Amino acid sequence: MPESFTEVAASVAEIAKGFHARGWLLGTSGNLSAVVQREPLRLAMSPSGVDKGQLTADQVLSIDENARIVSAHGGKPSDESLLHIRIVKDRGAGAVLHTHSIWNTILSDLYASEAGLAIEGYEMLKGLQGVYTHEHAEWLPIVDNSQDMPALADTVGKTLNEHKEAHGFLLRRHGLYSWGETLAQAKRHIEILEFLLETIGRTSLIKAKQAAI
Ligand SMILES: [Zn+2]
Repeated sequence: MPESFTEVAASVAEIAKGFHARGWLLGTSGNLSAVVQREPLRLAMSPSGVDKGQLTADQVLSIDENARIVSAHGGKPSDESLLHIRIVKDRGAGAVLHTHSIWNTILSDLYASEAGLAIEGYEMLKGLQGVYTHEHAEWLPIVDNSQDMPALADTVGKTLNEHKEAHGFLLRRHGLYSWGETLAQAKRHIEILEFLLETIGRTSLIKAKQAAI
């Protein structure tokens, strides 16, 4: 393995631990990837079925554009590898991160009938790449969940094409995807979006309580 893979794998493991500690990757859920090489495509990808709080750099797999393992690992890449590959190709992303937090799960269901969620007026929006004002309106599309990964990857590709400005999307009752040019940028985007989703969720709870008084 070139040294760059080792470095990327170490960063993937470190981010997984941090997200797990925040409750965003519990019970082996969620997955993380980063581009190591574009031609041919090589992705550092978290393995399936591993506790993300204990993920180590040497467990991170190297996969190709068909989600086949090209490193000397006996493990299995995440089931959702095809979604990561689609985002890398369609968005030119350098890293893709996927979390299963309580708040993203709740809101992905609550707003599913609207096929997305508008987030605007929050200062934290400025943490998203290319956003310079709290007046920005971010549309976070919601896609129905599926276990048919090739079909889901096509739906995600179509949705991303329809929402070219989106920094992420939700899978219904499942989780949040975001990405970035680098792992650091993708991590920042997840942190920003998780913050905003929790803020919106908690705000609507407080408003409902106030209305009931
Ligand atoms: Zn997932």
